[in-house]
Amino acid sequence: MNNNAKFIVFEGIDGSGKSTQIRLLAEALAERGIKTHHSAEPTSYPTGKAIREVLSGRVKVTDDELAVMFATDRANHNKNQDNGIEALLSQGITAISDRYYYSSLAYQGVQIGLPRVMQLNLENPDIRRPDLCIFLDLEPEESLRRIEARHLSAEIFETYEYLDKTRKTFVGVIDLLRERGENIVCINAAASIEGIAEAVLSAALKLWEN
Ligand code: ADP
Ligand code: MG
Repeated sequence: MNNNAKFIVFEGIDGSGKSTQIRLLAEALAERGIKTHHSAEPTSYPTGKAIREVLSGRVKVTDDELAVMFATDRANHNKNQDNGIEALLSQGITAISDRYYYSSLAYQGVQIGLPRVMQLNLENPDIRRPDLCIFLDLEPEESLRRIEARHLSAEIFETYEYLDKTRKTFVGVIDLLRERGENIVCINAAASIEGIAEAVLSAALKLWEN
């Protein structure tokens, strides 16, 4: 790619501050003349809507089918001509994704085992490796407090046990992917919004240094 656009991913359990920090990072990068676009997984494409039907409990599929649906949606997120990651990068726009394959490895990894989820994601040539993953690490107790304060309907993943297991799996996944050469920055998400934003911006700006 003949431009300086980057692909940045935010990860962390529900309530860890992904949406908040993505907004603040986009603003801070805009002030520095860096154009960004953010999108979330599951996507707003039909492949992502199908996943939301499953997460809400309206449609039942097997755990393996759900993992395949996530990988398919992710490949579509990369390749879609309508603001997909590759399309953005080729226009010089930095792409920010709210969740990516780290979430699949953590959530679906708990359900069907890591090797299968790694195969579906890391061996798929349509699923690009990010330039940076920012992992917002939060205790499940605080996550649940924030989710409750937000008054959102709980999806099937939002119980203490599940959040706790997922957080631990997330931490394991991060170690594993770091060993595979991924650029992952882990930030304590219990800190203040401003403090986290500063750490996020400093990690992101390193991508444009050399
Ligand atoms: P996520 O997108 O990861 O689910 P959000 O950014 O939506 O998380 O944050 C969840 C809730 O917690 C929101 O109400 C938000 O205002 C609040 N919040 C986010 N970051 C912090 C923080 N560092 N400290 C306290 N509350 C926070
Ligand atoms: Mg969010």
